[in-house]
Amino acid sequence: MQQDETISAIATPPGEGGIGIIRLSGENAVSIAKKIFRPFSAKSLDEYGNREAVYGYVKNEDGKTIDEVICIIMNAPNSYTCEDVVEIQCHGGSVVMREILSLTYRMGARPAQPGEFTKRAFLNGRLDLSQAQAVMDVINAKTKASLDMAMGHLSGNFSNKIKGFRHDILAMIAHLEASIDFPEDDIENLDIEDIREKVKLLVEKVEKLVESAHTGIILKDGLKTAIIGKPNAGKSSIMNLLLGKERAIVTDIPGTTRDSIEEYVNIGGIPLKLIDTAGIRATDDLVEKIGVDKAYSYAKEAELILAVFDRTEHFTHEDEEIIKLLETCPGNIIAILNKMDLSADINDDIITKKLKEVHNEQILGIVPMSAKSGEGQEELEALLTDIVYGGKTKTMDSQILCDARQGEILRQTLKLLEETITTIDMGMSEDFIVIDLRSAWEKLGEITGETLDDDIVDQIFSQFCIGK
Ligand code: GDP
Repeated sequence: MQQDETISAIATPPGEGGIGIIRLSGENAVSIAKKIFRPFSAKSLDEYGNREAVYGYVKNEDGKTIDEVICIIMNAPNSYTCEDVVEIQCHGGSVVMREILSLTYRMGARPAQPGEFTKRAFLNGRLDLSQAQAVMDVINAKTKASLDMAMGHLSGNFSNKIKGFRHDILAMIAHLEASIDFPEDDIENLDIEDIREKVKLLVEKVEKLVESAHTGIILKDGLKTAIIGKPNAGKSSIMNLLLGKERAIVTDIPGTTRDSIEEYVNIGGIPLKLIDTAGIRATDDLVEKIGVDKAYSYAKEAELILAVFDRTEHFTHEDEEIIKLLETCPGNIIAILNKMDLSADINDDIITKKLKEVHNEQILGIVPMSAKSGEGQEELEALLTDIVYGGKTKTMDSQILCDARQGEILRQTLKLLEETITTIDMGMSEDFIVIDLRSAWEKLGEITGETLDDDIVDQIFSQFCIGK
């Protein structure tokens, strides 16, 4: 279904590039294109076929040429939004793109809201909500594993699993309702025990998905990581090592998806979201100058702490402070004994002994490392993999991992299914079992967007970038 308002936006990233794309979608997309685009040939735009790349010029109201472009028309319903879509590929300069964009506005288009193209694709049934969300996840993917997860969602693998659950629930509801409506017929040969078994099976399947949320959230959002340690322990060097070759920093451009600039490090496919890296880089003496307060606040919000110690120096009051701090940290902790390329190891035994005395099960390992030679890095990666996948790397299908929102909905579904079992066990009538099952069915529909309020849908799409 075409929306009567035609929307327009720059679909390529801000800044300069080889080409830039202005995208229009809606009832008047083609008529607006006809007003501003002149094919290079003598033919009119109408004479070209659907999805044909047409070379020509964008001209303004006075007939002045603004740019030399390629124009592609994608007729409804075979387009991203299922509406008439026009893409104008122009030169990728911000001035030229803005000129063409404002020309489309003057010809009747209105500025697209963030995520509005994808929202229209959702409203027209081309994508369900979890697939629509995956569009942004593909764009924002921090590592190959994150991309794999996003692609699994985009291709519908994850949604199909959810739809399968809903289908099973609906089949049970239909069966129960038939026996309520036609109690004298023989369809009521209803075996409640059989329904109970089916619900139980579903509980197990949903539980499995809920467990995957832990990994899914990390792959999607990154593991919040703080690097702490006394001055000169080697924090910056460790960070540089982690950022080293093939470990690109992924920086979100402010205003596209989030407000702040965040840095991610890709370690063995796991995105680490570094907390206040600027602070760590600039501050050589975390403990001395700012005091432990700052280290405390980093450490408290981190899901992973890399505590760096210098094994070549004597154990100091500052090391003691860091160790004390680790006692109360809620996140996973990996202690790094740095500078193992140097022969002096006066600090090794005492730090190891002190760390072993810390009453915090979150200390997952003590890794001797050298930020200089890179020794120990593999062991660090192995520990990280363990944290993220819980030792299940091989068996985990990253295509069906769920994210935080989906994990929460699944947790609530689980509760509703467990309540259904209780209702059955209490010997209550079929009507009550149906009510419970229907709630679970509706809850699951929130993942695919089939049973979701419009304002929640709006809120989800508002987190998208403009032009997507
Ligand atoms: P920070 O203050 O904790 O960030 O420490 P830096 O990363 O700035 O390192 C302090 C000093 O130790 C620098 O001179 C580094 O070159 C040196 N350093 C760091 N890691 C190592 C290492 O593994 N081996 C050796 N030999 N020197 C290191």
